[in-house]
Amino acid sequence: MAKDRTGTAYTASNTNGDIDMTTCPRCPDSGLRHTLVSGTLPTHTCASCGGLLVSLVAYRRWRETLGPQPEPSHDIHPADDTDEIVTCSKCKGLMTKYRISADAPNRIDLCASCEDIWLDLGEWDLVEALAGSDHLANIITQPWQRRIRIETEEHLEEARLRDVFGDDYERLMSFREWFYEHPARDEILACLLKRLE
Ligand SMILES: [Zn+2]
Ligand SMILES: [Zn+2]
Repeated sequence: MAKDRTGTAYTASNTNGDIDMTTCPRCPDSGLRHTLVSGTLPTHTCASCGGLLVSLVAYRRWRETLGPQPEPSHDIHPADDTDEIVTCSKCKGLMTKYRISADAPNRIDLCASCEDIWLDLGEWDLVEALAGSDHLANIITQPWQRRIRIETEEHLEEARLRDVFGDDYERLMSFREWFYEHPARDEILACLLKRLE
């Protein structure tokens, strides 16, 4: 199997090597090539930036041909991510960004009209690791995005508490767990507050 630009970020092989008329959402001067990703999913790849254009229609059809997939590994793969707004290869409309996970800053780009998703170099592997390959279509749903917002807030709160408590943070957390699960927690709370009176 041929490798992509870096030879490591994801495995894409040219099916016929033809350059499509479609231009890259990130590189206006670069055309996209027909490629296969993960062995059998037909996609388009930019030889210049290494990004990947995936049709949601093709993706859903491809998913149906696969059996159960392994659970996500949650390994953070290094991946490109562009802050720039990118334009759809087909309709030239602006694409909308969606966070992949609370564990990585990367965002994929969607054109809702064409149902095409743009992934920067390495983001396909990141999606597989953090969301599972069967979940690419889920990332652009409201429940997924809401969950990322909640997890991001939880991470920020944890960082704040670690800042406040330093080395006592772990002790506080294990105390909190013990306290919440204790059958007499009202008594414990009353006892703690009594010392403050
Ligand atoms: Zn490109
Ligand atoms: Zn479009």
